[in-house]
Amino acid sequence: MKPAPFDYAAPASLDEALTILSDRGEDAKVLAGGQSLVPMLNLRLARPSLLIDLNHLSELAYIRADDGGLSIGALTRQRAIERSELIATGYPLLGAATSYIGHPAIRNRGTVGGSLAHADPVSELPCVMLAADAQMIVRGRSRERTIAAESFFQSVFTTAIEPTEILVEVHVPGLPDHTGWGFEELARRHGDFAIIGVAALLSLGTDGTIASARLAFAGAGDRPFRARTAEQALVGESPSPAAFDAVARQAAREIDPPTDLHATADYRRTVAMVLTRRALTAARACAGQGREEV
Ligand SMILES: Cc1cc2nc3c(=O)[nH]c(=O)nc-3n(C[C@H](O)[C@H](O)[C@H](O)COP(=O)(O)OP(=O)(O)OC[C@H]3O[C@@H](n4cnc5c(N)ncnc54)[C@H](O)[C@@H]3O)c2cc1C
Repeated sequence: MKPAPFDYAAPASLDEALTILSDRGEDAKVLAGGQSLVPMLNLRLARPSLLIDLNHLSELAYIRADDGGLSIGALTRQRAIERSELIATGYPLLGAATSYIGHPAIRNRGTVGGSLAHADPVSELPCVMLAADAQMIVRGRSRERTIAAESFFQSVFTTAIEPTEILVEVHVPGLPDHTGWGFEELARRHGDFAIIGVAALLSLGTDGTIASARLAFAGAGDRPFRARTAEQALVGESPSPAAFDAVARQAAREIDPPTDLHATADYRRTVAMVLTRRALTAARACAGQGREEV
C-alpha cells in the first residue's frame, strides 16, 4: 500500500518546526528516521495531513558529557550511539542495548528521539532510559518541559508528549562509582524485536554489598517496566548467585507480560527470570572489577 496524501514541510530550524506544529497540531506528525513512521504511513495506520521533516535540524544531533551524565539530542542516530567513544566509556549499557535494534541500515536512519517517542514497549531504548532514570526534554512553542522516564512512557505507542511538542533532548544522569551493567534479550533472530529483554544496573558499596539496583524490562507489559520490589530486595545483600536467583524469581512475578503470537505470558516470565539472573551476574562482574564506568 501507499500512504494517504499528505503535505510536507522541511523546516530549517527547531523554532520553525515548532511554529508549523503549533499551527497544525493534531493533524501533523514529525518525521525523524522514518523507520517506524513510514511503515505506519504505508499501512495507513497513520494518516497525518502534514509531515514535518526534522532531518535538517542538525542542532538536535549531539552526544555531550554534561553534569556528570550525558545529554543526547533527539535527532542523534542510533548508530552514532553505538559508535560513540563517550557512550563506550561513560555509559556502555546504552551502546550495548542499541546494537540489538534491528540492523545497521535501520540504526543508520533511526534516531534516539524517534525510538523514545514511538514508545514501543518491546524497544530497547525506552527500557534502557527507564533503567537510567533518564529525563526527556520536550519543547513546545512557548514552553519547555522535563519529564522523567517513569512518567514519559504511558502506554503502547503513547507518551507524555503533547501534539504540539517535540522531544528535543534526553538527559542521562551519571551513576555512582562501582556500578556495573548487564543487558540481555531474547528475540527469534538477532535484529528482530525482543520477545523479552532486561537492563540491569548494580552499584556496590565499599563493603561489597549491593548499595542500589535497577531492573527494567522490555516486552513485559504495555510500557517499559521497572521491577521495583525486586530492586529493593537486592539492597544490602551480597551479590551472590543465591540472591540473584531469588530476585530473578521475584522480578518474573512482578512483570505483566502479554500473550501474543510470538510467546505466552508464562514463557516470557520464565525467560525474564533467566535473563535477569544473567544480566545481574554480568553487572556484578563489571562492578566488581572496580570499573566505575557503565
Ligand atoms: C525492520 C525493522 C526492524 C526494527 N527493529 C527494531 C528493534 O529491534 N528494536 C527497536 O527498538 N526498534 C526497531 N525498529 C524501529 C526503529 O528503531 C525506529 O528507528 C524507531 O522505532 C523510530 O525511530 P525513527 O527515528 O525512525 O522515528 P520515526 O519513524 O521517524 O518516528 C516514529 C514516531 O515518533 C515520532 N517522533 C519522532 N521523532 C520525534 C521527536 N523528536 N519528537 C516527537 N515525536 C517524534 C514520529 O512522529 C512518529 O510518530 C525496527 C524498524 C524496522 C523497519
